[in-house]
Amino acid sequence: MEWETVIGLEMHVQLATRSKMFCACATTYGETPNTNVCPVCLGLPGALPVANAEAIRLGTLGALALGCTIHPVSVFARKNYFYPDLPKGYQISQFDKPLATGGELAFESPDRGPTSVSITRLHLEEDAGKSLHDRIPGVTAIDLNRAGTPLAEIVSGPDMRSPAEARAYLVALRQLLLYAGVSECSMEKGSLRVDANLSIRRPGDPLGTKTEVKNMNSFANVERALESERARQVALIEGGGRVTQVTLTFNAATGDVRPLRTKEDSHDYRYFPDPDLPPLVLDPAWISAQADALPELPRARRTRYETALGLGGYDASVLIQEPDVARYFEALVAAGADPKAAANWVMGEVLAGWNTSATFAVAPDRLAELIGLVNAGTVSLQAARRIYGELCTSDDTPRAVADRLGLVQVRDESALATWIDEALAAHPDEVARWRGGEAKLVGFFVGQVMKRSGGKADPKGIQPLLMQRFAA
Ligand SMILES: [Zn+2]
Repeated sequence: MEWETVIGLEMHVQLATRSKMFCACATTYGETPNTNVCPVCLGLPGALPVANAEAIRLGTLGALALGCTIHPVSVFARKNYFYPDLPKGYQISQFDKPLATGGELAFESPDRGPTSVSITRLHLEEDAGKSLHDRIPGVTAIDLNRAGTPLAEIVSGPDMRSPAEARAYLVALRQLLLYAGVSECSMEKGSLRVDANLSIRRPGDPLGTKTEVKNMNSFANVERALESERARQVALIEGGGRVTQVTLTFNAATGDVRPLRTKEDSHDYRYFPDPDLPPLVLDPAWISAQADALPELPRARRTRYETALGLGGYDASVLIQEPDVARYFEALVAAGADPKAAANWVMGEVLAGWNTSATFAVAPDRLAELIGLVNAGTVSLQAARRIYGELCTSDDTPRAVADRLGLVQVRDESALATWIDEALAAHPDEVARWRGGEAKLVGFFVGQVMKRSGGKADPKGIQPLLMQRFAA
């Protein structure tokens, strides 16, 4: 009998604010340790937190993008625990009264096709500091620059049924948050983290005992870690054992998961409302204004590319994957490029460059001009690819590069006629065969003429002249 896998995910995203959740310290990444700190985020006695309005707005936008209900009153609570990177001895989070509940995310599952996963809640909280184990030999150092960084925690229902599906959900969720402008969503910079819960059961049975997997530094590793944990649970149960509630850490080098600490859920965090922070009260009119201000989200954009721009579903889905790439594509179209040609360029040369450097080497108006040259027959598509390579390193216009490299197609009939004469004279046998009825030799002669022209002849101009020559 088959095992059914049940997965739920918690994603922590850093809200894209300039300052921390409850103080004015900067959230800039990569600063000298312990420089972005103040009495509030250091937890010094008497310091009073003030909630960051921009963090609340971004959290609200994220929740609205997920179709959640925003609660007009939510409460900041203290989650008490002791850890070296937590100077206050508690983390300010939201517990029984979160900012938002009850949303869903629709996405394409690799196993089940169009699927939707429920969003249990989205709440606001602050991050802890960071323990650095490799900074000073033999000693653990603490950097509190991250302490107090604003986060949204997004908790899904236990709705995913495979590690691959969990990964697809994460990709879709990240894309949505990027489009909504909520977070930079960079796992490398620590602005996106994922914890995963997994259990197995026989189909139709109640939920099995779940374990939690942490320390996964990419979506690919979330999938690997969950594969590993699923295999571990199946082997355990089929060997007569039982799954116990445990927190596991993933080792990317070995692909294994191993226990981090046990009885995580029996931890008593002694939550209580933070006496220094009043309940967060949001005006319903403000909430609906935020809903109106939501930018165009990925699904709507994909649909627009298909209907208004006439692109295929696959092309549209590739173009919307990264908001920056989609914006570049739209700039191309706005600069007058044909949408289908623009899509091909973006999915080819442009995306290849962006994937390696996360930059666009050629400004969209210049590429639009190059696309225009191809459409007008001034240069061939093949020549345009060479010109594109030049544009990456030169400030010349596409036309100037085409002239400089001698890539402008020749349509002048007398020039074409000379190359045709040469080609026919050089291949008397083929001429005889063509005259004898081998019509497919036209392709051979077009190729010969192109060769003689050094690739500059306009292939569309050659064939009619060749036909005239043989009709004569
Ligand atoms: Zn501070």
